[in-house]
Amino acid sequence: MHIPDIIIAVDGYSSTGKSSFAKAIAKEFSFTYLDSGALYRGVTLFAMENGFIDEDCRIDEKGLETALNNLDIHFGEGGTYMGDRLIEKEIRSLEVASKVSPIATVPQVRAYVDRKLREEGQHKRVVMDGRDIGTTVFPEAELKIFMTADPLVRAERRAAEMRAKGEDVSIENVLKNLQERDYIDSHRETSPLSKADDAVVLDNSYMTPDDQMQWLKKVMAERFGC
Ligand code: C5P
Repeated sequence: MHIPDIIIAVDGYSSTGKSSFAKAIAKEFSFTYLDSGALYRGVTLFAMENGFIDEDCRIDEKGLETALNNLDIHFGEGGTYMGDRLIEKEIRSLEVASKVSPIATVPQVRAYVDRKLREEGQHKRVVMDGRDIGTTVFPEAELKIFMTADPLVRAERRAAEMRAKGEDVSIENVLKNLQERDYIDSHRETSPLSKADDAVVLDNSYMTPDDQMQWLKKVMAERFGC
């Protein structure tokens, strides 16, 4: 199957498997994968370590905005980096997950991440996952997928993933975190999570990764005649 030079946006709710699907798409069609959530998580880790967010998620917006000017979060060998420090493991913790959505409401933080994504996306043949890729970052993306799934199925998947990495979590806490993030993401003022009008919806509650790829190939064939 030959895919034209396009941008693919994969948006949707937390823990619907966006990144796994986007990575699979990148592998199948030799596209570059960009994880926008990792950039928000990187900024969050930075804010936590430098006192720009406290335990109650109160944010020193002014301080954080100024510090962003010298912050270098980027993708490299093995994942996400802050300067030359690999932060891939830390940014996946429940602690970062509990603070990332408030941090992602800060307009300057969104502008910082958008700028990085647009730089990377200008070369096309990229697949990005996030919440606002198809609506805000790349509204001109040629293919937009909006992913959703049953919240309990999502929490179970996420908890299994975290336990496999050695983090001791309960389904209740993971479900609570997902629901809180969905709420904040959908209700924030700057580029809230919402389906682009021209996005195709994928509810993968009861689909395997193979089912998803078959679904995508069908959509591609219809859309691009490939
Ligand atoms: O996708 P992931 O769960 O890693 O994203 C972490 C958080 O970053 C999300 O809960 C959301 O608050 C924020 N985010 C966002 N816009 C994106 C990607 C992620 O607001 N494009």
